[in-house]
Amino acid sequence: MKKIFFIFAIIGIVVAIWAAMTIRYKTTNSANELQIAATIFPLSDIAQNIAGDRARVINILPAGASPHTFDVTPSVIRKLQGTKELFIIGHGLDEWAAAIAAALPGLKIYRVDSGITLQPFGMGQHLTSDDEADLEESGFDPHYWLSVANAKIIASNIASELIRLDPQNAAIYQKHLSDYLSQLTALQTEVRALLSDISNDKLIVFHDSWGYFADEFGLTILGVFELRPGVEPSPQYLQKLYNLVLANQIKVVFSEPQFSADVLQSFISDLGLRVAVLDPLGGVAGRESYIDLIRYNAQTISQIY
Ligand SMILES: [Zn+2]
Repeated sequence: MKKIFFIFAIIGIVVAIWAAMTIRYKTTNSANELQIAATIFPLSDIAQNIAGDRARVINILPAGASPHTFDVTPSVIRKLQGTKELFIIGHGLDEWAAAIAAALPGLKIYRVDSGITLQPFGMGQHLTSDDEADLEESGFDPHYWLSVANAKIIASNIASELIRLDPQNAAIYQKHLSDYLSQLTALQTEVRALLSDISNDKLIVFHDSWGYFADEFGLTILGVFELRPGVEPSPQYLQKLYNLVLANQIKVVFSEPQFSADVLQSFISDLGLRVAVLDPLGGVAGRESYIDLIRYNAQTISQIY
């Protein structure tokens, strides 16, 4: 009888030790899974391309929402628990990252614009001095990810951060980066070809997010509807746009899926314009990667013009 108890006791101890080791192993394992985040879809997709299966990337801004009008909810904070670093665009685009930083003091915030030449908003030349003064307040144009050349710099910056966070996998991140840079180079070639023979390179867009894209691919942003996201244009301003459209024989205006086009309606019907949709953010069907997003926009412009 004593012998049997002794054997059971031994088995019990072995099982207990095994269970304890398993639990500890699992805990360590999940704590080791690197988790990073990005404020907008194009950024999280670029980060995921560099991270591959070495890190989990959380995207914060939901598809279809505008970064200019987004608010951080408690569920966003909960989702970000355990995240090591948050990649942001900055310059007024994702200011709500400050609320995340305040709620999660251990989280490093990294603005991905290092090495990128930022530009002022591009519309100044078409406006009165009053409008210009209004624009200058808002500083640089934050939509710099829409230039593929800038996306390459962003990818390199994110790779450097991942290597700093997880030096053991440095070679893997370097490999992912060089693969991704090749894909972006192919994308630049593809977009240049798409836009090489368009009949009109002047665009009227909904909000001033296309300056970097236009610069890289030889387009001109002739006018924008909303000088400030979410602020409807004044009648005087619309009159100026109206004249620009007539003077330049513009046939199309480019709307954006994150904004309601209702405000454009009378303007469009008065001038007999067509509406096409350019998307600066993606994360929806057909634009499920940064590369697909840029390709979609180039195709949209080339099909219209
Ligand atoms: Zn914007």
